[in-house]
Amino acid sequence: MKKELSDCLVIGCGMAGSVIARELAERAGKNVQILEMRNNIGGNMYDFKDEKGILIHRYGPHIFHTNSKRVFDYLSRFTSWLNYSHEVVGDIHGKLMPIPFNLNSLHSAYEPSKAARIEQKLITTYGINSKVPILELRQQLDPEIAEIAEFIYNNIFLYYTQKQWGLAPDEIDSFVTARVPVFISYDNRYFQDSYQGIPAESYTSLFEGMLKHPKIELTLNTDARKRLRLESGRVFFDDRPFNGTVIYTGPLDELFDCRYGRLPYRTLDFVFESHNTTWYQPKGTVNYPVDQDYTRITEFKHLTRQLLSGRTTIVKEYPRAYTGADDETPYYPIQNPENSALYECYRKLTDEFPNFRVLGRLAEYKYYNMDAIAEKALDLADTLIG
Ligand code: FAD
Ligand code: UDP
Repeated sequence: MKKELSDCLVIGCGMAGSVIARELAERAGKNVQILEMRNNIGGNMYDFKDEKGILIHRYGPHIFHTNSKRVFDYLSRFTSWLNYSHEVVGDIHGKLMPIPFNLNSLHSAYEPSKAARIEQKLITTYGINSKVPILELRQQLDPEIAEIAEFIYNNIFLYYTQKQWGLAPDEIDSFVTARVPVFISYDNRYFQDSYQGIPAESYTSLFEGMLKHPKIELTLNTDARKRLRLESGRVFFDDRPFNGTVIYTGPLDELFDCRYGRLPYRTLDFVFESHNTTWYQPKGTVNYPVDQDYTRITEFKHLTRQLLSGRTTIVKEYPRAYTGADDETPYYPIQNPENSALYECYRKLTDEFPNFRVLGRLAEYKYYNMDAIAEKALDLADTLIG
């Protein structure tokens, strides 16, 4: 006899899929089945101990930060937190300076009297603790501000952005470089959000806690595209009509066989290295904005505070275009008007299926941080549950 169908089907077990699954199971009492194509839960936040016993983030370094009390409180049900504030330095021709470029960076880049003069001008123009996107700072007419803007543009943004996106900073949507604004401050933290940290045990255990519910059934190593079919206004699961709610968190173009062409995404190759030293670098992340093929190196022990001497693990991130032939899903949607219009063609196809919803960074084709995804999942749960 065929197995009973569940009430809800969730495709993908990242932040989006896990939060919505938990909400539908717990608050609405639904039987939820999650299908995940990878061999692990947690999507990009999955972490595990490598052969040296060092907790590493398999899909790149993840630091939780949010201004949303709702998201912080929600995730805190499943973890306690290490109080970690991320700091990044850029290796500019061998000299390390804070990124986002701030007043400390200014003083390390320029001789004291010039740095003091420019600092005064920046504070007078923008105010202390203000954040100025580099493309905005480049509009300034004052010659000394224009000079520092060119310095920052050329040494922090130009090559890093070319590596990351295959495009110059003024060829990509301005919100991307505005994520790392020039910061008129002596605060060296990468994020200023009210809540920030790293799960005390691991991201994976946070997800295990979230997914531990009698009404959630999880199947790993399963590509939903092999079992899900959207046809003539109806969703079919294992060739049977499925009338429950389907939440899809993977790339939307791939669900429709890329019929309008592929949605462009950037992806990363992660190269992990173990070193027989207690510390490899002075901060959690060192960015390489003027040289190297990789964009940044992260040393996990800074994030996780693991006390292990004589060994450490780092990861280098090598960006490239996503071809679709990869085993892994892509990481970065390339948001611009043309790609968003293409995305909209795919999204419109879903209008025909009232029980089908898209959620998450891939499925919504939006460059969201994890807290934004958690919030969107909670909002969608509110809508669905009422
Ligand atoms: P994902 O985590 O991508 O999860 C989607 C899941 O769906 C995946 O597990 C995938 O395997 C699965 N899937 C896809 N297609 C199918 C299919 N057909 N069948 C079955 N399963 C499928 N955010 C922060 O807030 N702080 C950070 O420090 C941070 N650092 C980041 C660093 C890197 C290198 C990257 C790439 C992202 C970072 N992010 C960070 C962003 C964060 O990873 C995302 O916001 C978050 O992962 C989005 O969650 P999601 O569930 O939408 O997507
Ligand atoms: N960026 C840069 N140089 C840096 C840091 C960031 O040019 O040293 C630009 C680059 O275009 C990058 C964007 O700012 O893609 C956003 O950086 P962020 O650190 O937020 O990227 P993510 O952590 O999401 O990869």
